[in-house]
Amino acid sequence: MSTELIQFLLILVAVASGWLLGFWYRPKKRRGSPDDNASSYYKGLNYLLSEQAGAAVMTVINELPVNIETLPTHLALGNLMRSKGEVDGAIRIHQNLLSRPSLPKDKLYQVHLELARDYISAGLLDRAERLLRDVVDESAIYRSDALEHLQNIYQSEKEWDQAIAVARLRLPPRRWLKKPATPTAAEKAVECALSHYHCEKAQPLLNSHDIKSASKELQMARGYDSDNVRAYLLSADVAISQNKPQQALDLLQSVIERQPVFACEVLPIFRKAFAGFGNQAAYLDALLRVAEKATSTAFIVECAAVMAERDGANSASAYLYDAAMQRPTLALLSAVLDLPEGERGRSVALVRQLLDQLNVEKPAYRCRHCGFSGQKLHWLCPSCEQWGTIAPIRGIQGD
Ligand SMILES: [Zn+2]
Repeated sequence: MSTELIQFLLILVAVASGWLLGFWYRPKKRRGSPDDNASSYYKGLNYLLSEQAGAAVMTVINELPVNIETLPTHLALGNLMRSKGEVDGAIRIHQNLLSRPSLPKDKLYQVHLELARDYISAGLLDRAERLLRDVVDESAIYRSDALEHLQNIYQSEKEWDQAIAVARLRLPPRRWLKKPATPTAAEKAVECALSHYHCEKAQPLLNSHDIKSASKELQMARGYDSDNVRAYLLSADVAISQNKPQQALDLLQSVIERQPVFACEVLPIFRKAFAGFGNQAAYLDALLRVAEKATSTAFIVECAAVMAERDGANSASAYLYDAAMQRPTLALLSAVLDLPEGERGRSVALVRQLLDQLNVEKPAYRCRHCGFSGQKLHWLCPSCEQWGTIAPIRGIQGD
């Protein structure tokens, strides 16, 4: 059973039990004969089960009273509608709740929040924003949820200043104390987003050569998240445009040390920074060090290109073969094939060897039901336990 189906059934049980609760708590004088009432509840449930959302919504609005006991049922049904894409129905249910002044204030703000979620789903962001602003100002309980939604709205509208203002409200004041406590995972996510918002602001400033303002934004970006590669790459660009190649290289160095997997993104700026020095030997030296530390194909190929230019094709091809043997990648294969004609025999042998190695590493069979892949043909999928769903993989890496 899929988790979506389980979730749906759980919500359905919640709705049904709330529904019956509402039935029993209903004031006696408003009841007709119990049989009539019971039949209208079953009618509503039937609408729900038969996916007639509009009819179910009208039955709930007209037949189920609004009070503190039945509120969870109304909310569960509204959320169920929204999750099934029936946003109009969800909005009607939540608006119906707001028109009842009998609910306590904190519950009304909960309904505000749900209605704002409906508006977001319907793309009515202005309306959602107004509701969420109210919740932020008035409700301590739902403030943090409302701030998160507001931040997402501003982010989707690329309103970076507003996104920054809201995101900062989600961080505890201790961030600006001298000894900040370790941030929680949620706070880290907010800081990571803040760091990217400042990068978003820096990029157009950089494009329009407002280097001073761009630097300020990037300093904030690095302050919020010292692991944000993008902030370091942009800062290195700024340093180069300020004619400070050494500063750019220091920034790039810290990317390579913290996140070597991004080495290929570092290379173009690295090249630009060294162009400022005009020292080929120093460049090759630095490239070789990064190529070894980060095991980056992009750096290895660049090393070979500089070697070929400086010392001739022989030393470059020896270096390239050696690297390709140690760690075959498609880009290295392609670089090996670019070597001069005289080396062609050796290249073909190496390509064959690398292809064999790639063939051994890649899976040959995949389950069409769950995506499980492996080297052997199983008639019963060991992952999803379905018969006859595994077949040979076709295409560029398959049969
Ligand atoms: Zn499977």
